[in-house]
Formats: sequence, C-alpha cells, structure tokens
Amino acid sequence: MIGYIHSIETMGTVDGPGIRYVVFTSGCPLRCKFCHNPDTWNIENGKKMSTEEILDDFEKYRPFLRNGGLTVSGGDPLVQIDFVAELFECAKKRDIHTCLDTSGTTFNKNTERIKKFKKLAKYTDLVMLDIKHIDKYGYKTLTGGNLDETLDFLDFLSMETDCKVWVRHVIVKGYTYKTDALYKLGYYIARYKNITGLDVLPYHAMGENKYEKLGLEYPLKGMEAMTKEDAIKARQVIEAGIRDRLLGNKPAY
Ligand code: SF4
Repeated sequence: MIGYIHSIETMGTVDGPGIRYVVFTSGCPLRCKFCHNPDTWNIENGKKMSTEEILDDFEKYRPFLRNGGLTVSGGDPLVQIDFVAELFECAKKRDIHTCLDTSGTTFNKNTERIKKFKKLAKYTDLVMLDIKHIDKYGYKTLTGGNLDETLDFLDFLSMETDCKVWVRHVIVKGYTYKTDALYKLGYYIARYKNITGLDVLPYHAMGENKYEKLGLEYPLKGMEAMTKEDAIKARQVIEAGIRDRLLGNKPAY
C-alpha cells in the first residue's frame, strides 16, 4: 500500500523507547496553536512511499536502533489509518517494535471505522497519546478538535487492546500551564492501568518560520517559550493528581 510521507528520521531518540526509525506521515485535521509542523497538515504535500520501501529502508538502520523500533508520527498517522495498519502488520512480521504517536483524532467507536482501529491496535505495541488539554473547551480553543476523540481512544486502548500507552502533554502558558488543568489531567489518567509513561513537554516556537514560508499567521506570536524547569513543575502537579486518585482522595479541583 502507498502512503503520503512528510519525512523520515533514522535515529530518533524522543519518539518512543530506545533509538527509533521515525516516519512522519502527512495529513492532520487539527490546527494546534503550538504546532511546529504546519507543513504536515496537507496530505498531498507528502511523498508517496510503499510499506515495503519504508521497511526495506528500516533494515539498513536496524543494527543501530538499539532497544528501539519503528515509530509513526505526523501530522497525525490516523489520517492514513489503513496505510499505518498495513505498515505495522508487516513490521510485526519482521519482529519490529511498533509505536504510534497520535492524538487519537478521528476515533469514533460508533462507526464502521472502529474496525480499522482494531486492526491497527492489533499490530501496535505502544501508543504515545498526546492529550493536548484535559478540558473540552480548552481543547477546542487550542486545537480546533474534539477532546472526546482522544479520551474515547484511550478508553478503547485500555478496554479492547493490549497496547501500552505513554501520555504526552505540551505545556503552554495561559492554555495548559495551569495548576487546575494539570492536576485534573493527572487525576483523570490515574484510572488507566495500561498507561506506563508520561512525557511533559515545554512549548517552544521553533516552527514559527515555517508559518511565514507557508504565508500563514503564527497563532502564538510573541508567546514565551517554556523551560525544562516549568515542565518539571507541571509534572509534579500532574503526579499529585495521579497520587490523589490512587489513594482514593477526593479531587482537589
Ligand atoms: S496534531 Fe500535531 S501535526 Fe496536527 S496540528 Fe497538532 S501539533 Fe500539528
């Protein structure tokens, strides 16, 4: 099968466990204000590649991908769910660890599309689930999308699959870098036993020049970048929420 590929990174260190071969697919229905890859939004801007072409290229780097594997990121990979499912199916036949980096966008358990999600999950070892905001209005404002898709996808992963989940969360001043929202996120995710990791990522403005090149206005112009120290503080608040739920305490917010 053919997919539309934005780019490939052969030695990724931040997109799953170990050293990874990372395929960035084209196409994304969200419009996150902090997106640093607006050039991935349009599926047709991608280069056409087959699943075999990608896996044969993967093999060249396999000796260097210590404790790693294949990650598909985006854009959002779920836009090309059939292609990613086939890619992961073939990867598992070659005994490759598979990781899906997504926000869960387009998930809907009440449509025929659920069959595609089931197929994809069957061949996915790990999902890095980007929960962009834990409040549905905040989510809409920040991404233009629907938080239910993300949370329903998390439910589905927990109840109907063996996939492990790492939660990812980007902190942005005035949007997600708020004590109550961070705490609520922790309290919410604490119920899921399949969540085995948490990444808190500081917002940066590195994609700003791409907007200029595309003739687009940068939505967070002038927004202060966040630091590693901010991410550590945010993580502590999320962990307080997790702890309270696990101890059976009432939520603080
Ligand atoms: S989901 Fe990712 S690619 Fe899509 S708009 Fe948000 S940050 Fe950008």
